[in-house]
Amino acid sequence: MKELPNDAIPCLDKGFIRLVDSMGGDEAIVQAARVSYGKGTTKTSQDRGLIRYLMRHRHTTPFEMVELKFHCKMPIFVARQWVRHRTANINEYSLRYSEARDDFYIPDPDQIQYQSVLNKQGRSGEIPPELKSRVIQAFEKISRESFELYSELNAAGIARELARAILPVNIYTEWYWKNDLHNILHFLHLRMDSHAQYEIRVYAEAMATIVKRIAPMAYEAFQDYRVKGLRFSKIEQDIFRQKLSPEMVADLREDVIYRIVASLHTVKPRSEDELFALYQKNGGADEQTEFFLKWNSGELEPGNIRELREFRDKLDRL
Ligand SMILES: Cc1cc2nc3c(=O)[nH]c(=O)nc-3n(C[C@H](O)[C@H](O)[C@H](O)COP(=O)(O)OP(=O)(O)OC[C@H]3O[C@@H](n4cnc5c(N)ncnc54)[C@H](O)[C@@H]3O)c2cc1C
Repeated sequence: MKELPNDAIPCLDKGFIRLVDSMGGDEAIVQAARVSYGKGTTKTSQDRGLIRYLMRHRHTTPFEMVELKFHCKMPIFVARQWVRHRTANINEYSLRYSEARDDFYIPDPDQIQYQSVLNKQGRSGEIPPELKSRVIQAFEKISRESFELYSELNAAGIARELARAILPVNIYTEWYWKNDLHNILHFLHLRMDSHAQYEIRVYAEAMATIVKRIAPMAYEAFQDYRVKGLRFSKIEQDIFRQKLSPEMVADLREDVIYRIVASLHTVKPRSEDELFALYQKNGGADEQTEFFLKWNSGELEPGNIRELREFRDKLDRL
């Protein structure tokens, strides 16, 4: 396909990604989860809370209820990385059946850099314009010459499945790629990451804009808990234990408990008498006068109760 379909998001110089079909969205995740957690109410805020809970706790199967099918056009070296994601269903343009097209990836000058010394799978540094031109010329030369030879073999009646073997990996291919949301998010996590190669990152970022549109709550939770969330190894936690004083941890814990009480109070307002008892029940250690001083400061920001409690419990484990 030479011309860009109307609904396609352009990627690289001649590629694209577009959504062909989809099944479900945030509501399908919630619907599936309620089978395991019981019906409950279905207010949007509760749907969002449930999706965030599922993402936080890696309860992944409800996300598999959403499916997306994409039509993608990308260079073969990008497809080789992409195809490693084994859970997708793929149907690719066949160079055994059809003739190859004169569609080759030529990198943008901004993306031409030196091999990184620090990162063996990366690029870095600014290179002189003459060298950039040389790189582009090399891409153009191999693309043109290989395509001429390919066309010659084709014209001579050589089998396409053999003739194609002389084409370089910067030639574009196309496929339909269908996957469920859980595995798509896994793909996005790996391929939007700064460690992923630029050329596949472009596609992952384009795919992300579509995913965000289809399942905005799931995408938001994915960003908050998977992409921007941090997990600490035992070694890292040991460093925290050594470097963070017990007073600092206790302070942090207190702040979290105040926020738990503020959140509970927002959901169901309590009288002054009940507040301090609620604070103590949630593990608060301040005296009553100190509690009311802080409480009346008006600086307590409510949040998600369950998430705050989980944070308090993590601090307890430090
Ligand atoms: C930055 C980066 C660098 C990389 N470098 C290299 C490299 O140098 N060489 C190389 O060969 N690859 C490389 N890869 C590819 C990488 O090793 C994985 O193959 C690829 O990221 C797909 O990951 P996955 O297997 O988790 O994903 P998927 O295949 O999409 O699978 C998703 C999940 O399903 C489960 N799963 C799927 N299939 C199976 C199965 N058969 N058995 C058990 N569980 C399964 C796993 O939990 C898996 O995490 C690289 C990837 C990245 C992102």
